[in-house]
Amino acid sequence: MRVAIPNKGRLREHAIRLLKLAGVGPRFVGDRSLAAPMAENYRAIFVRAADIAEYVADGAAEAGITGHDLVRESGRELEELLELGFGACRLVVAVREESAVEAAKDLTPGTRIATSFPRLAGEYFASLGIPVTLVRVSGAAEIAPHLGVADAIVDLSSTGSTLRLHGLREIDGVLSSTARLIAKPGPSDARDALSELAAALESVVEARARRYLMANVPRAKLEVVQAVLPGLSGPTTMRILNSEEWLAVHAVVDADKVFRIVGRLKGLGAQGIVVTAIERLMP
Ligand code: AMP
Repeated sequence: MRVAIPNKGRLREHAIRLLKLAGVGPRFVGDRSLAAPMAENYRAIFVRAADIAEYVADGAAEAGITGHDLVRESGRELEELLELGFGACRLVVAVREESAVEAAKDLTPGTRIATSFPRLAGEYFASLGIPVTLVRVSGAAEIAPHLGVADAIVDLSSTGSTLRLHGLREIDGVLSSTARLIAKPGPSDARDALSELAAALESVVEARARRYLMANVPRAKLEVVQAVLPGLSGPTTMRILNSEEWLAVHAVVDADKVFRIVGRLKGLGAQGIVVTAIERLMP
C-alpha cells in the first residue's frame, strides 16, 4: 500500500514523525528520496503536498497525508479518515492595512483577489454574491496588493505575522485547516491496510493530547479525588503496601488540564505525583 507524504514544506517533518511514532514510519529518508519502504507492506512516496489529493484520487497512492485546504482546493472526492493534529492554519481574506474595508461582504464587485486557492476563493465570493476577479498566483500572494496587481488576497495564515509583515489585515476567514489522512472513498483491496494505518496513527494522535498521572492520595479523600481525576473510565486505584491511609491512583488526563489537576490534587494532600507522556492510546 502506497502512502503519499509531502516531499518538502511545513507538513513533511510532522507527517514523518507521526508515522514513525505509530511504528510504520519510513526508517531512512533522504532529502531527495522519491520513495521509501515502511513497515509491513506500506511504502512511502514523496510528492508535493499540493499534489497529494490528486495522486490519491487517481489511485497512484492508496493513502496520503496532506492539508484539508489542499484536499478541498483539489475539488476531488476524497475521504478524510483522520485529523492528524498538526499543520493548523486558516485560509483568510486580507486587504491592505490602510483599506477602509472591514469585512469580505463589503468588497465591491470586480475586486481583484490574488490567491493560490482559486477554487475555494471563487466558491467563497460566489457564496457572498460578489463577482470578483481572481488573480492566480502559485505562492506569496501577500506581495500582489503591493505590486498593484490585486486589491485583496485569499491566503493561508496561522499566527498572522506574515500578513502583518506585509502590511495586510485579515478581514474574514474562508476555511480552517489541519493535516489529514486521506483515501479514495468506497471499497478497495486496501481497506484493511487503510484501517490499520488509521488506527495506528489515531493511537498516537490521541496519546499526544493526554498524560498519564499517578499520585498517592489519602484514602479518606478518595471521593473528591475521583471528581478531580475522571480518567478514561474512572481512576485505577491501588492499595499501598503497609498503608491503610493512602491509596495510589492512576489516570489518563487531558494534557491541557494537567496543571489544574495537579494543583487540586496537592490541595487534597496528594503526594508522589508523577506525570508522564503516553506513547499510544487506544481507548
Ligand atoms: P508547503 O507549502 O509545502 O509548506 O505546505 C503548505 C501546506 O501546509 C498548506 O497547504 C497547509 O495545509 C499547511 N500549513 C500549515 N500551516 C501553514 C501556514 N502558516 N502557512 C501556510 N501553510 C500552512
